[in-house]
Amino acid sequence: MNQPGAGASMPQAAAFDVIVVGAGGSGLAAAASAAQSGARVLVLERRAQVGGTTWMAVGSISAARTQLQQRAGIDDDFGGFVEDMNAFTADLLAQDHAPLRRMLAEQAGITVDWLAQQGVAFAGPYEEPPHRIRRMHNTIPGPGAIVQRLLITCKRHGVSLRTGITVSRLLMDAAGRVEGVEYLEQGQLCQAMARGGVVLASGDFSGSQAMRQAHLPEPAARASPINPDNQGEGFRLAQEAGAVLVHMDKIFGPQMRFERSQRPGLNDTLPSWPWLTRLGALFFMHAPGWMLQPLIKSLLIANMSPSEELFKQGAVLVDKQGRRLDTARPAVSVAMTQERAGYIVMPGAVADKFRAHPFYLSTAPGIAYAYVGDYERGRPDIVHRASSLPALAQALGMNAQELAQSTDAGSAQGPWLALGPVRAMLTTTEGAVRVDTSCRVLNANDQVIDGLYAVGCIGQGGLLLRGHGLHLAWAFTSGRVAGQDASRQVAQGAR
Ligand SMILES: Cc1cc2nc3c(=O)[nH]c(=O)nc-3n(C[C@H](O)[C@H](O)[C@H](O)COP(=O)(O)OP(=O)(O)OC[C@H]3O[C@@H](n4cnc5c(N)ncnc54)[C@H](O)[C@@H]3O)c2cc1C
Repeated sequence: MNQPGAGASMPQAAAFDVIVVGAGGSGLAAAASAAQSGARVLVLERRAQVGGTTWMAVGSISAARTQLQQRAGIDDDFGGFVEDMNAFTADLLAQDHAPLRRMLAEQAGITVDWLAQQGVAFAGPYEEPPHRIRRMHNTIPGPGAIVQRLLITCKRHGVSLRTGITVSRLLMDAAGRVEGVEYLEQGQLCQAMARGGVVLASGDFSGSQAMRQAHLPEPAARASPINPDNQGEGFRLAQEAGAVLVHMDKIFGPQMRFERSQRPGLNDTLPSWPWLTRLGALFFMHAPGWMLQPLIKSLLIANMSPSEELFKQGAVLVDKQGRRLDTARPAVSVAMTQERAGYIVMPGAVADKFRAHPFYLSTAPGIAYAYVGDYERGRPDIVHRASSLPALAQALGMNAQELAQSTDAGSAQGPWLALGPVRAMLTTTEGAVRVDTSCRVLNANDQVIDGLYAVGCIGQGGLLLRGHGLHLAWAFTSGRVAGQDASRQVAQGAR
């Protein structure tokens, strides 16, 4: 069943134990753990570079019972971790997947320690309310280091990694078992077979306008994906194999964010040598605050969400013409404008409040804060000053009358400041294929589709991951678990 059309000329299918579709965080974790368990692994990645959305992330991972927690004298427990995660999604608990939630709670700490063994350095654990215990582990200098360390593990264990290859079909045998994949390489249709299983690690669907429109509420469908490359092809592949999709309409966003800085960040420039990242982690945990601030601030101003306190203190949100937008749900307002962009506009006196605590523009909660001065120095591309409101309108190409009305500015004298453009951005969608606690994909009868796993975003399986640090926790945990399980299938002689 599902074999290529008669007459198609095709090279001999290469044989592997495990095939991973996608080389983001979850895919590389699956490949590394399968290879460490002795499997012969092939990874196929659509883009020329590996890393996917994982590379763009902040790098926070929430986990319980880690070695870092133990060293900090924190005695955590899995039940407490589940309860605190549930506090983020109290309104959605009935729709959540409790067994997967428990699996994440029990396995995320093992994952953080496993990543540390691969040479990844973490700082923390930090606070992240409503967690009652410090569980936030931050990668140093960022998740690019995890991607690089997993690549090194993969290389050491002989994983074949091919980039620039899009998997277009799953191959199934007559009994409905997934036995391999099909892809185009240099115009040639190719196949590869997997004895232990195929792991779908192809990310979310936020980059696909068609899928956003088909599944998400309108503001989210109109918002801009931070990673436009995740086109959701894996969802079609899974469905063709009989998988069931769940929570396709769920998304925690959009969020209002400044446009991303074009300057490369630490994540892109620093190598991931273990001694360097460990030194970085020690520096982060022990250096005095004044030494850390410049470093953390460069991360904070890269593309963080501006504080909504701005609006309480007298700033307004306007569209590109200067028309006032509703700030009750600012990201939604911005998404619904014609240009899907806005500016935060304020008199100089309001801007001056945000030059010092307690009024910050963006924050990594409890760790660092960025103020107007930090943005003026580090992001001159998004800070616009003018000596009067009409001058500001002119500089930004807005209608001066509209802007004056929006700001209730009276005579509009004195300096003004605008921040932007701000956009409504999507980090990730929550929709996924249904999986069991070994990340094996389930069909409509809740039966395992033999030979098929799904991990990371596409394998969220019904988990709703609101709260910092849970998506990466799931990506690396589900990848590690699926990689081990798939390689076990080979050892047990699945075929
Ligand atoms: C700005 C930002 C900050 C974030 N910060 C955090 C954070 O600090 N903590 C946290 O927990 N979460 C964070 N997240 C969310 C987190 O980064 C993602 O949920 C996670 O990285 C997803 O990992 P993944 O492996 O599922 O997908 P990805 O990393 O996107 O990997 C999927 C890969 O599959 C490839 N692919 C797709 N289709 C195919 C195909 N058909 N064939 C071959 N390859 C294919 C893609 O090109 C991609 O490389 C953040 C997200 C963003 C955007």
